[in-house]
Amino acid sequence: PALHRQRHQFVIDFVNRNKPKKVLDLGCSECSLLKKLKFNRDIELLVGLDINGAKVKKHMHGLAPLSTDYLQPSYDQLRIELYQGSVTQKDSRLRGFDLVTSIELIEHLSLADVELFSAVVFGYMTPVAVIVSTPNSEFNLLLPGLSGFRHSDHKFEWTRAEFRSWALKVCLDYGYEVEFTGVGQAPQEQQDSVGFCSQIGVFQWLGGRNGSNILLGDEAEDVFSYTLLYSINY
Ligand code: SAM
Repeated sequence: PALHRQRHQFVIDFVNRNKPKKVLDLGCSECSLLKKLKFNRDIELLVGLDINGAKVKKHMHGLAPLSTDYLQPSYDQLRIELYQGSVTQKDSRLRGFDLVTSIELIEHLSLADVELFSAVVFGYMTPVAVIVSTPNSEFNLLLPGLSGFRHSDHKFEWTRAEFRSWALKVCLDYGYEVEFTGVGQAPQEQQDSVGFCSQIGVFQWLGGRNGSNILLGDEAEDVFSYTLLYSINY
């Protein structure tokens, strides 16, 4: 299957195993992951954020319930919200989620903005789990005809060691642990030397699902920096 499908399937499998109730997709773009997640019966709040409001608006209508969805009683629990805004800015409406996903987003940020991303997502939003995927540059030698980055908008593409060192620093700074994996496999004999095509870090907050997450000082104040584009209750 296509690589973007494999990345989304990775998230769906995680959701099926861990049953998060509140899920936030950063860089939701054409809302394609959200459109798959809306079928999960455990999710009560499904939120997307992207800096490109026009792109979200163009694709968001597929999130509306089909008339047959209303015939399914267990759907009445789901609320979907879409916001325009940047992951480098805080907004108190997106705090305290069970799962935040960032699929092929960070490589579109400058390194200074990646630092802000880390502080906002791990330090401020403090979700229970975070899934981050990004290209693994070591795999690029297997992509024929590629010179430079995989996409002209990429600001960087990290080796496994570079991704690991960013991720481990995030863990130290904000109290998470991380496991590394990926999707898109190289031929058997090259798997160890190049790794996965897309590398993935799965972060878990060390405070745990039931850990105390008491907000102190400024952190308790409401901050609204994103624009609500769409909301719907099933
Ligand atoms: N996550 C999508 C998926 O899995 O198919 C695709 C992501 S696309 C390659 C990157 C997205 O990140 C774009 O839609 C872009 O508008 C968004 N983006 C870039 N910088 C951003 C920022 N600072 N805050 C929020 N979204 C951003």
